[in-house]
Amino acid sequence: MTSLVINISISRHPVTTVSACVLGGRELTGSPEDAILWIMNDCLFCRIARGEIPCKKIYEDEELLAFHDIAPQAPVHFLVIPKRHIDNVMELEAADASLAGRILFKAQELAVSLGCAEKGARFVVNCKSDGGQSVNHLHLHALGGRQLSWPPG
Ligand code: AMP
Repeated sequence: MTSLVINISISRHPVTTVSACVLGGRELTGSPEDAILWIMNDCLFCRIARGEIPCKKIYEDEELLAFHDIAPQAPVHFLVIPKRHIDNVMELEAADASLAGRILFKAQELAVSLGCAEKGARFVVNCKSDGGQSVNHLHLHALGGRQLSWPPG
């Protein structure tokens, strides 16, 4: 039987660790760069960004991709991602400030184009386990088209 147990911790900070990775019974070893390449090959949103997995695309440019969420939680629910792999908000650096701003502004533009200008929308970025992040590739949710409750669960 083939088992897949993956527990990788990648950081953009100086200490980069591959804590454990067993793929089909084979341990992944190698440099941090190898591990990053491995993650980018495997990451769901990296694969969507490369066109290897289909999505309902709303917008694309050199840096960004926006697509409808596969399990929408509101009449309007789309994601904006950087094409470059960034795990989560905690991994953003000062040099990413413009990219981070573009993600938010693009979400606003698209939400307007999808009819959310008058009543607004919610723009959410979940981060790591406490934040409820399930896909480890930075993404901003835009939800609109219905009244959303607060506080979140
Ligand atoms: P989060 O829980 O913040 O990490 O959000 C991940 C989001 O990605 C969820 O809302 C999922 O429904 C969505 N999602 C997962 N796989 C896909 C996919 N293949 N295409 C579009 N959205 C996806």
